[in-house]
Amino acid sequence: MAEKGEGYILHSAEHMFARSLQNLGIDIKVIKADTFREDGKGFLLLQGKIPLAKLYEAEINVNSVIPKNLKTTIETFDDINEATKCYPNLRFNEERLKETKNIRLVKIGEFDVCACKNKHVENTSEIEVFVIVGLSYLGGDTEIEFKAGRDAINYLILNNNDILELGQQNNFSAREIKKNYNKIQKNLNQTDQELAKVFRLFIKNSEIKFIEVGDISLSGFYKSLNEVVAANQEKSIILLSNHQLVAVKGTKNTSDFKTIGDRLRERKAFLGDVRDDYINGKILDYSEAKIVLAELSSLII
Ligand SMILES: [Zn+2]
Repeated sequence: MAEKGEGYILHSAEHMFARSLQNLGIDIKVIKADTFREDGKGFLLLQGKIPLAKLYEAEINVNSVIPKNLKTTIETFDDINEATKCYPNLRFNEERLKETKNIRLVKIGEFDVCACKNKHVENTSEIEVFVIVGLSYLGGDTEIEFKAGRDAINYLILNNNDILELGQQNNFSAREIKKNYNKIQKNLNQTDQELAKVFRLFIKNSEIKFIEVGDISLSGFYKSLNEVVAANQEKSIILLSNHQLVAVKGTKNTSDFKTIGDRLRERKAFLGDVRDDYINGKILDYSEAKIVLAELSSLII
């Protein structure tokens, strides 16, 4: 974590990042910049969705400018028109500056010029490294979390160590993490598909009505459940995992799903959809859910 008062490293880095995006032809609009937080995190909220590739390109650019040892200088102007006449590429927030005279410009070498009242580094070398550590496109805007200085270096080292360790355990080199992750993901998908096939065969040919499946997602089983019940309308199946419950029954099955679902909700074991022929939702209390299902086992037909 950056020491309190070191937010100006993050703030200068943020200016450089904004300029780097502008240099890539992106018309940025800063909704919020937050670089003086107690927890040492830097945040930048930009209007619209800026593609990941552009953010990475700008990040690389900032890190290529940092070691150029650019000095920051301050210039003041009586008003914004005068300032923009002198610096046509000046970046400023129109809403915030509307009524402001005495414009203070922060220049980072010849690389960036921006209207700003905050404290900055004297020299870009103080920033050391700039790294994006979080990204969100929630709500259609681009929120970037970033680190600079020692914090950024520590972050990169810790991350690299994690990747090295994973590589060691799973026999791949650190630079191949993406390739290997994708391979593992592909294998997992195939396993899920195979598992769904086995599951379909099992429920089709078995009289079991209640199945506990441990700590896995049930979404891969929906299709199989519906197919088997569609083919045999006398069937009912309840699937329970640590965090989800799914129950499906055919039109000729007389299980009382309504009572079961309502009781599970009453006992605060479950939250979700309850219909005559279908229950689907989140398990809030796994052991309580099992107790309720055991108590009402005579309603499962
Ligand atoms: Zn600023």
